[in-house]
Amino acid sequence: MPELNPFAIAQAQLDEAAEVLQLDPATHELLRWPLRELHVTLPVKMDDGAFKVFQGFRVQYNDARGPTKGGLRYHPDETIDTVRALAAWMTWKCAMVDIPLGGAKGGIVCDPRKMSQGELERLSRAYIRQVGRIIGPEKDVPAPDVYTNPQIMAWMMDEFSFMQGFNEFGVITGKPLPLGGSAGRGDATARGGIYCLREAGRVLNLELNGATAAVQGYGNAGSFAHQLGSDLVGLKVVAVSDSRGGIYSPDGLDYESVYAHKQQTGTVLGFPGTKEITNSELLELDVDVLIPSALESVITEANANNIKAKVSVELANGPTTPEADKILYDNGVYVIPDFLANAGGVTVSYFEMVQNAYDYYWDIEMVHERLDKKMTAAFHATHETAQKLKLHNRLAAYVVSVARVAEAMHLRGWV
Ligand code: GLU
Repeated sequence: MPELNPFAIAQAQLDEAAEVLQLDPATHELLRWPLRELHVTLPVKMDDGAFKVFQGFRVQYNDARGPTKGGLRYHPDETIDTVRALAAWMTWKCAMVDIPLGGAKGGIVCDPRKMSQGELERLSRAYIRQVGRIIGPEKDVPAPDVYTNPQIMAWMMDEFSFMQGFNEFGVITGKPLPLGGSAGRGDATARGGIYCLREAGRVLNLELNGATAAVQGYGNAGSFAHQLGSDLVGLKVVAVSDSRGGIYSPDGLDYESVYAHKQQTGTVLGFPGTKEITNSELLELDVDVLIPSALESVITEANANNIKAKVSVELANGPTTPEADKILYDNGVYVIPDFLANAGGVTVSYFEMVQNAYDYYWDIEMVHERLDKKMTAAFHATHETAQKLKLHNRLAAYVVSVARVAEAMHLRGWV
């Protein structure tokens, strides 16, 4: 279905913002497309001795405000259009939290769950041998995303450093702490989302302590949302899920025990004392707060009317389609849109780049304080624009971010 092509969705969202902002046609057209993209073909020796050939991408969407920034996904369903959409969203995300970076994204079509550590290392190094020519701290800085992690970032930084002939820690973020990683990068995406939820609680007059929540996805974003949602604002998380399905308990789920179960068994399913539910049932639960933290296009025209949550905190990129956005808005669901809610990850990635550049590292309190300031400012810029112009929050976030990128392009004399 064309409307579920994420890049067509990203362009349609931009078109609406361009209309509100009355952008001139050239500025609008330039923002509809990536500035550059590289397609790579990667031969990798597998453990059985045979070679397998993988396809990969890196899309540099827009660098008017600074070097491009964005994660790398390893996923069997990756396509150039998902990567383009995600690169566009990174552009709006960096502008949203007002950090001096543009947007990019990369991906490799592969199933990391079926690969050994050695195969993953060789694939990651092969990717850098091709993409290395267009990345670097002054050009484009990758980071973790779906099914990539600090170990993969370490191999990539190492490969790039060998290509350069010196250690270049700042080429990539989300690195392990001993290799120039930043304190607080691990849970930054979820933490930023929970800071936004705290602010939403204030403006909506919604008591979050004891409020029920459901979290879809149990990767880096979802699992930390379970932990920090409970620890920072007192949410009672009653349901969580991963790609295999979900679990529900009206009494609430203890983070430490569910996380340990997932570590041991590879899934949240089978956690004692819970009822098994599907991922789509989880979205429709009667809870106060919904936290989609998995993949794109899960809330669509087909199920938006069944969403009962008062607030949706989008830690995933692109979980809600444009048709669903309108339905949620009409039904009074307060959406904290993806490139605001999940901007904490790239914000701490930016802090990591700054620390790498001056080779001096901050303590965790400093990271949290500066992250909170960025997220709180971005939340209120969006909320106030939505109220003033009577727009849903995603369109308001677009209006704020696109105006910032357009201003940079105008000042540079691009259009
Ligand atoms: N992949 C994350 C995102 O979608 C983080 C990107 C980064 O840190 O550069 O925001």
